[in-house]
Order: sequence, then structure tokens, then C-alpha cells
Amino acid sequence: MTENDPCKLNIQGADGEVPSPENSEARQAYFIRRMQAYVADKSLTMRRPLTACIVTFGCQMNARDSEKLAGVLKACGFVLQDDENADFVLYNTCTVRDNADQHVYGRLGRLHEYRRSNSFMKVALCGCMMQQSSCVEKIRRSYPFVSLIFGTYNIYCLPEYLWEVYHSRKRVIEIWDGSEQTSDALPAERKFSFKSGVNIMYGCNNFCSYCIVPYVRGRERSREPEDILREVRRLAASGVKEIMLLGQNVNSYGKTLEHPLTFAQLLEEVCAIDGIERIRFMSSHPKDLSDELIDTIARNPKVARHIHLALQSGSDRILTAMNRHYTKAHFLDLAGRIRGCIPDVAITTDIIAGFPGETAEDVDETIDVIEKVKFENAYTFIYSVRSGTPAAKMVQLPEEVKKENFDRILSAVQASSKERALALQGRCFEALAESLDEQQPGYVTGRLSDNMIVHFRGDASMIGHFYQVRLDECRGFYYFGTVINGQESAE
Ligand code: SF4
Repeated sequence: MTENDPCKLNIQGADGEVPSPENSEARQAYFIRRMQAYVADKSLTMRRPLTACIVTFGCQMNARDSEKLAGVLKACGFVLQDDENADFVLYNTCTVRDNADQHVYGRLGRLHEYRRSNSFMKVALCGCMMQQSSCVEKIRRSYPFVSLIFGTYNIYCLPEYLWEVYHSRKRVIEIWDGSEQTSDALPAERKFSFKSGVNIMYGCNNFCSYCIVPYVRGRERSREPEDILREVRRLAASGVKEIMLLGQNVNSYGKTLEHPLTFAQLLEEVCAIDGIERIRFMSSHPKDLSDELIDTIARNPKVARHIHLALQSGSDRILTAMNRHYTKAHFLDLAGRIRGCIPDVAITTDIIAGFPGETAEDVDETIDVIEKVKFENAYTFIYSVRSGTPAAKMVQLPEEVKKENFDRILSAVQASSKERALALQGRCFEALAESLDEQQPGYVTGRLSDNMIVHFRGDASMIGHFYQVRLDECRGFYYFGTVINGQESAE
């Protein structure tokens, strides 16, 4: 599903002078046009289309960036495929944990095999991992077959880098430490026709002691509200019904704008756009989730009844060591206000077990929060060292202690989410049919406003549409249900 068709971008001087870098939109459109001619010519010579594959690691912001990168490759004439045995392979990397880096190095080895049988093949890497000079140095030295390396700030320059890689025969390594430009004007190849992520801001100023994101994604910078609303209107016009507003910490939205706007005010504006039926957002930081936002969600049924609020730990001592800027009491009070104001809201969270210095008493505190908030779901991780972060320099817990803490927290989470899920049995909710059920032929997989997954009888014609579904049978973290009145619910 293509957005921002490059043919509509102004491409003055396609065969003549290159538009200046300042005029990035025209400049990248220029290189898309040049690459279109090159790929068409090469396909003729090779008597087959040129293929490209993008592999995305990490978060939803990376997934949205990959849609833009895929849009560029498709606009240049490459045929996109999932198979990595392609003429151009791009890894959009994540570096949230050390083992994420190791994973990429491991996968690169396999690409080298493919390249033995296809010398025309080009391998490229971008994303958060490439913002770390130690990783770029390792790739420069140990993986000579990698032709292109770029970071998180210059994604929008892919057309130009493609031209260079295919015409200069030299490696292109472009790592920037900042940019005002974003990739929002690029053509995007969306994974889903009925839903889409929309970046509202980039970067993070929170510097949680275990997190590398502020070092690889930079300082917070918010997109202009009019650019965001224009993108959402364009998506609505192309048939999108569900939007996910994306930022490392959406609650900080608007602080860098000349005319500041709060996230709640932006959300109100997005709610007013016709055609968009459901709005989600991620991620929220508990330190600045406002009453204004809670009130905006409560008053707007379009906003999904799901808030992901990362707790990480319930111990004030550990929260301080994590540099999270809130306390257990603050989190409990906030969760109470959210549940009090928004009926049927689901609160999910992230919890790190085994953070340096974590004691059994600290784990008790975390379990106490879990039992009081009763999260609908929680992503629980065992702390792993991320070099380059302050926590990496702290005294680490033995692996067996980390595992013990993790197991205690996980069983508390499973108990609370099971209890929450069972409470929904027999009730009816609106589900967006998202895909065919891979496990159950004749079924589709849908998602409720509170993010609960429900499988119900159906076929491909139902995907992208809303249905009233009764939740019949709870299977722990998901349901089997029945469409009631067989009709698509009135939109
Ligand atoms: S809020 Fe903390 S954990 Fe989240 S991206 Fe920012 S620094 Fe990382």
C-alpha cells in the first residue's frame, strides 16, 4: 500500500543539475527518478526484475521507518520480497540490548553466503545500532561486503545513497549526530491497508540509566501539528481506519514547537478527522501523563481503551537508580485515576527484573504494584547490560538471582492478567478484523479497543472492518468469540 507517490513530488532537473541538499524533498525525488531509470535498464540487461528485502528489528518506530524505506525502494523500481536472497538487502537495526547487536552480526554472515552466488547483491544497514561508532567500526572492519551504512537521522537520504552505491563502487558510510529533516515526505509502503503508524516526535530526553535510545535517537523534537494532521488526513483518504501515534514519550509532545501544543490537544485534533475510527498511541512515560490527557481519552470514544504505561520497577530505590523520575505512590495514584476516569481501559506495562542492586524486597514492591493495578498484560524482561549506558557500569546481579526475580514477577503478572481477561467473558465489544488466523482455518484475528486479541469465524473480506463480537472462550491472553448479528458494526 503506497503513500506519497514520488511521481507527484517535484523532480526538477531530473537529468540536469542535482537539487541542493537544503531542498531535500526535490533532491531525493531527483535521485528516485535517476534510480528508476537505472533499475529499469539493469532489469532489461539481467532479463529479470531487481529485488529488494528490508528486515526490521526492534520497535514500532523502526517498523514505520521501514515502511518509508520500502516505499523508496519500490519507487526506484525494486520488487520487494521477504526473502533475503535479494539484489538489495537492508537491515533496519535495533540496539536496545547487547544481544540485539549480536543478532545482527549473526545474520550478516548468512547474507555473505547469498552474495557468493549473486555478486550484484548490495547489503546495507541503518537504524539505531548504526548510531554507535563501535558497531560501525566493527562492520567496516569485519564485514567488507556491506556497501552502505547510515543512521537514524538520515533515513530520508536513501535515494541518494542508493545512487552512490550503484554508481561509485565505493562504500557509503553516513552517520549523522542530528538533523532537522525527517523522512515524513518519503513514499511509504505500508504493511496494512487499514492501519498505520504516524510518527509525532523523535528522540528522548529522559536518559533512563539502562536505555541507549537517547544516545542513538537524540533529543526530543516534535513534528509540526499541521504536518501530522495532514498525514493522518491523507491516510484516512487512502482507507486507513486505525492510527498509532508514535514517539519514545508522546506525553512530551509539543515542548520543542514554536507554538507549543500538548499531546492531549493534538489527540483531540486527530479525533476530529473523518474516516479514522480508532486511535492508539505509544509510548507514555508515567512521569508526565497528564489529567488533561486522561480527560481527553475519556471524552473521545475513538481513542483506544488501552494505555501502555511502563512501570519498570515498583521499588522507589530502583526507580531512582533507573533515573525514572517517579515513585511507586505516583504510579499507583496515576493508574487509579486512569481506571477511575476511563471505564474498560486496559493498562499494560513493561517491567525489568534483575536490575543492578535489586533485592527480594524490591521485587516485593514490584509485585505489590502488579497486584494493586492488576495489569491486563506486562512485557517482563530480564535486565541485560547495554554498553554505553550508566547502568552498564553498575555492579550486576548474578544471572540466577535475575532469573529468580524474573520468575516471581512473571507469575504475579500472569495471575493478574488472567483475572482481568476472565472478567470480560460473555461481554460484547467492537473488534477490528486484522488478519486471517494462522492457526485456525476459517477464522480471522481481530483486536479490541483495549488491545485484547479475539479469534472469530470469518474470511479475508472481513479484514480491515469492525465487527461486534461476543467473547465466548478465554484462552489466557486471547479469546475465541462470535460475531453478533453477522453485520459489520455501524461505523
Ligand atoms: S523514556 Fe527512558 S526507556 Fe523510554 S526511550 Fe526514553 S530513555 Fe529509553
